[in-house]
Amino acid sequence: MRHRIAVVGGGPAGLTFARVLHRHGHPVTVLERDPGPNARPPGGTLDLHEGLGQLALDKAGLLAEFQALSRPEGQAMRILDVDGTVLRDWRPRPDDLANPEIDRGQLRDLLLGPLDVQWGRMVTEVTPGDGALVRFADGRQEAFDLVVGADGAWSRVRPAVSAATPRYTGVTMVETSLDDVDTRHPALARLIGDGSVAVYGMNRNLVAQRNSGGHVKVYAQFRAPLDRHPDAGAVRSNLLALFDGWAPPVLDLLRHGVAFIHRPLHVLPVGHTWAHVPGVTLMGDAAHLMPPLGAGANLAMLEGAELAESVATASGPGDLDEVARAFEEQMWARARRWAEITTAGLERLVSPNPAQALALFDDVQPS
Ligand SMILES: Cc1cc2nc3c(=O)[nH]c(=O)nc-3n(C[C@H](O)[C@H](O)[C@H](O)COP(=O)(O)OP(=O)(O)OC[C@H]3O[C@@H](n4cnc5c(N)ncnc54)[C@H](O)[C@@H]3O)c2cc1C
Repeated sequence: MRHRIAVVGGGPAGLTFARVLHRHGHPVTVLERDPGPNARPPGGTLDLHEGLGQLALDKAGLLAEFQALSRPEGQAMRILDVDGTVLRDWRPRPDDLANPEIDRGQLRDLLLGPLDVQWGRMVTEVTPGDGALVRFADGRQEAFDLVVGADGAWSRVRPAVSAATPRYTGVTMVETSLDDVDTRHPALARLIGDGSVAVYGMNRNLVAQRNSGGHVKVYAQFRAPLDRHPDAGAVRSNLLALFDGWAPPVLDLLRHGVAFIHRPLHVLPVGHTWAHVPGVTLMGDAAHLMPPLGAGANLAMLEGAELAESVATASGPGDLDEVARAFEEQMWARARRWAEITTAGLERLVSPNPAQALALFDDVQPS
C-alpha cells in the first residue's frame, strides 16, 4: 500500500528522507517555504561523520558521489592562543575519510538530484486526525497519512506534538566570510591551512573554516545577553573591540570579513520527547535543536534515511504508526546523547577558562 507522505522542510533531514524514499520507489511530497534552491546563501561547510551523515548517504545510494565531492583535507585543524602561538596543528592522512567536509550547497544539490520539491510552500500549521492536515500560508490545505516535520529550529509542525520551544543558550555567534582567500588574503590562507583555525579566549572564541573555491567562513562566538536587533553597521567594530588585544593576524579575519550574520544560539531541552501523536512526527533540528558542534546535520540526515527505509516497508496505516513510534524511540535515545555532548562542549568552548576548551583537543598535538 502506498501511503500519502509529506515532509515539511527541504534541509538535510527532509531531503535525505525524500531521497531514500525515492530510491525505494515510494512517492513523497516535499514542502519547502523557500521559493527555490538558491533563494538563500546555503551556509558553510559540514563535516559528515562515517557512522552518521555518511551512513545516511550510503542508504540514499550517494556515498560514492559524496566522496568525489568532499574534502578529506578539510579535517585539518590548527589551534592558536590569543597571542597567535600555535598550540595544536593536526593534518589528516590522505586516506582518512572519517569526517570529510562538504559545502552545504553541494550537499543540497546532491540530495536534490531527481526530487520534485514543491518550492514556495510555507506551512503554517499541522493538525493531527486520521493522518494529518497541513495548512499553508496561502490558505490552502492538504491531507496526508503521515506528516514529517523537518522544518528546523522554529518548526511550525512541532506544536502538533509538543509545547517545547527553543531557549537562548547565552552564547551568540556572528558569522562572516572571506572570498578568494588564496589570492586576496594569502597570509590568512596560510593561517587557516586546508581546514580550520581556532582561537579560544575567555568567554569567546574565533574559528575560521575553509569551504571550497577559496571561500572561508569565520565564526565569532561569545557570551552576551540576547540582542534581537544588533546594530548591523557597527558589528565589525563591536567585534574588534570584543576581541581587542588578540594577535593582529587573528583580528584580520574580522577586519576583512564581509556580510556579518547574527546567530544567537538556541537549543531545545536536552532529552526532548513527546507523547506519540498518530499522523505526525519530527526529525532533525525540529526535534532536537542543539549547539552547532558538528552533529545536527549528521543526525538529521541519518534520521531521514532511517525513517524513510522503515516507511518504505510499512504496509497498513497501523503499521505506519508503529514505524513512526519506533523511529521516535530510536531518535530520542541517540539525540539525547549528542545533546549532552554538544551542550557540555559549548560550555567548555565558550568558557571563562580557555584551558577547558583546549583540553577538548588533547589528542591534537603540534606537528
Ligand atoms: C553555523 C553553524 C554551523 C553548523 N555546522 C554543523 C556541522 O559542521 N555539522 C553538523 O552536523 N551540523 C552543523 N550545524 C547544525 C546543522 O546546520 C543543523 O543541525 C541542520 O541544518 C539541521 O537540518 P534540518 O534539516 O533538521 O533543518 P534545517 O537545516 O533548518 O532545514 C529546515 C528547512 O525547512 C524549511 N522550513 C522552515 N520552516 C518551514 C515552513 N514553515 N514551511 C516549509 N518549509 C519550512 C527551511 O527553509 C529549511 O529549508 C551547524 C549549524 C550552524 C548554525
